[in-house]
Amino acid sequence: MQSGNAGALSDKPATDTISNSAQSLIQGQIAYLYKNKVLGFWSNILLASIMLAFFWQHFFSQRISLFIWFGLVVTLSIVRFLIGKNFNSQKHYSQAELSNWANKYVFLTTMISTIWGLSGVVLFPNDLIHQMLLVMILFSVLLAAIPTLAASRIAYYLQILVTLAPITILLMMSRDDGHLLLSVSILIAALTLVLVSSYIYHLLYELQGAQFALQNLADTDQLTQVANRRHFDREFKTEWRRAMRERTPISLMLLDVDHFKKYNDTLGHQAGDECLKKIAACLRSVTRRPADLAARYGGEEFAVLLPVTELKDARMLAERLRNKIENLKIKHPASDFGVVTVSIGVSCCEPGWDFTGETPEEEQDVIFPAMLITAADNAMYVAKRQGRNRVSEQACGDHKLSKVLQQQAQQKKANA
Ligand code: GH3
Ligand code: MG
Ligand code: MG
Repeated sequence: MQSGNAGALSDKPATDTISNSAQSLIQGQIAYLYKNKVLGFWSNILLASIMLAFFWQHFFSQRISLFIWFGLVVTLSIVRFLIGKNFNSQKHYSQAELSNWANKYVFLTTMISTIWGLSGVVLFPNDLIHQMLLVMILFSVLLAAIPTLAASRIAYYLQILVTLAPITILLMMSRDDGHLLLSVSILIAALTLVLVSSYIYHLLYELQGAQFALQNLADTDQLTQVANRRHFDREFKTEWRRAMRERTPISLMLLDVDHFKKYNDTLGHQAGDECLKKIAACLRSVTRRPADLAARYGGEEFAVLLPVTELKDARMLAERLRNKIENLKIKHPASDFGVVTVSIGVSCCEPGWDFTGETPEEEQDVIFPAMLITAADNAMYVAKRQGRNRVSEQACGDHKLSKVLQQQAQQKKANA
């Protein structure tokens, strides 16, 4: 079960072997944190304004300190809000980048809590009613900071400490019973908050684990442990749209095991299954970037989606993969090569590539991706025809389907 933590301040370190699903889950949590930035922002502004309104009259001689304090809370809240706006929940971030985002959030939230904690000393009122009001506001600030638990439990405990410690120490230092009683009340409430937040954290952790396990099960091919077709189709759509939006190239590899029927016939279906597992492990080892996706496309066919990858790089990767699979030296008595080999078709759509220049946007969403797949499929069969155990490539749009569609478009134009 994966922890939901990503930052250096996390309770549990993230591992190198973290899978793409776990990565997207962590991304989801960081996105959740930044999505809640509006709540964090307005609760801080509201509570700081309440402080300003109630204490304005009280701190007649210290209004400048009160105002500086208010300005600091507002400025830091705005900074955190603006930084959060740059987080793109649709983008694939690396583990280090996610860690960076989580740390940024935790750092700024701790800064804001420290400013709030300082109010307990700098703006310490002299009557018990205002002191109680201040304590209540500080607890409200801590309740509003509960989403921090999604990044790290320790970070939240730190918020509790920096927010409440200054005022509690100050109250403890005074000798009268009223102040001591108030400081003891703060300690009891703080302890309760620690226990409750720990409970919420564990609940969150269990839920994340269950969500991760389910998502993994639904998205993974159970035999080969790479993404299944359903997962591939979904990611392909997302990455295709991103490539169009950001005008970046997108490449696709389709891989088919050579003479696999004969392999099954000679060595048995179970040996065939083992062979597919080994090939899938090779696929996983070459797809190292977070957005790369290796999937079982069907039967003994696999697909590798390579966003932001040019044709020459995709071809190089395909050749490395083909070579790696050949070097597994899985015996295939019925093949001319003596070992299991694969044929790979590579295709790529470059940015700015346009089919007719007039294709409506909604059609681009269907026709263009289909052309990328068809190009890779055609390239794969060219590799088969040329003798198998090789890589072949075809540029997007440079195939029969494009010609048929082009003719249809011209026909439509002529008829209009
Ligand atoms: P080619 O080189 O032209 O691709 O020949 P091929 O024999 O690989 O192609 P064909 O499509 O005729 O055969 C695919 C075989 O893959 C048939 C099927 O039994 C086998 N296959 C598909 N899925 C699985 C699976 O999950 N496990 C096993 N063991 N075999 C599978
Ligand atoms: Mg096949
Ligand atoms: Mg085959």
